Amino acid sequence: MNWNALSERVLAGEGVTREEALAVLNAGDEELMGILDAAYRVRLHHCGREVRLHVLQNTKSGMCRENCAFCSQAIGAYSGVDRYGMQTVQELVAGAKEAHARQAVKYCMVTATRGPSTDELETVCEAVRQISQEVPIEICTSLGLLNDAQARQLAAAGVHRFNHNLETSRNYFPKVCQTHTYDDRIATVRAARAAGMEACCGGIIGMGETLQDRVDLAFELRSLEVEAIPVNFMDPRPGTPLADVEPLTPTECLRGLAMFRLVNPVSEIRVAGGREVNLRHLQPLALYAANSMFTEGYLTTAGRGAEDDINMIRDAGFVVASMAA
Ligand code: SF4
Repeated sequence: MNWNALSERVLAGEGVTREEALAVLNAGDEELMGILDAAYRVRLHHCGREVRLHVLQNTKSGMCRENCAFCSQAIGAYSGVDRYGMQTVQELVAGAKEAHARQAVKYCMVTATRGPSTDELETVCEAVRQISQEVPIEICTSLGLLNDAQARQLAAAGVHRFNHNLETSRNYFPKVCQTHTYDDRIATVRAARAAGMEACCGGIIGMGETLQDRVDLAFELRSLEVEAIPVNFMDPRPGTPLADVEPLTPTECLRGLAMFRLVNPVSEIRVAGGREVNLRHLQPLALYAANSMFTEGYLTTAGRGAEDDINMIRDAGFVVASMAA
């Protein structure tokens, strides 16, 4: 495959085909630099050299009644994660201030639930109103399945973006979750966008799915025209049904990021959960495809601190995005 020609075609507005996307994932390690260069040309054209830092706030932890097989917060997972109910408005505002101090441009409040209760939604909305007044940071929320009215309530409070991942392909999804459907998830993404919020929607690679499933997810996201795509890398959690899944290699992760960038050229591609344990010494190379990343850890697992991440971004010649930019 001529990767340079592929990137030229993407830059000319011609979408890659499913066969080409699959070829990216099937390529050997000797072709990795050519693939990353193709992804980088597209990233540079649409996103410049900036890297957007995002911070997650686990707002309600460890008590979800859904059964997603990868999730340590699911019912039936014996994972020993922290269990606590909804945080207070004060705690959520304090989290936003900390995220801003770490140079994050986005603060994402996440609850482990099928969907928000009336009280939980009101708590989040009040926190969003206060954060909007006090902290120069964009706000994302991830609260499970939403109906149209709930989406409108969040948008009216000032939520900029709503996260709800598809997680994997339509074909593979029933193997990782049986308590809700792929279409439930798509309906939530559509409700969020219809209410005026941007959609953050991605998935996890390395759950035992095929390379074709990864391509199918990327194309599903393209058809939804989501603004941001978090690409998570499976970090098997003890006590979950996927605890013993085969680990990814760092170069497999990089090909995955490049494929998501080439299929979704204008989306914000985020190197997300599992970055440190899966990419290891190759983490800086992720920036050639991805233009955003989480810092300060994830919902139930630790990550690197913001200082290390900011140093990595600068050492690689990229620029930490700021709210003023
Ligand atoms: S709905 Fe979310 S929090 Fe609940 S089990 Fe699935 S991934 Fe985990």
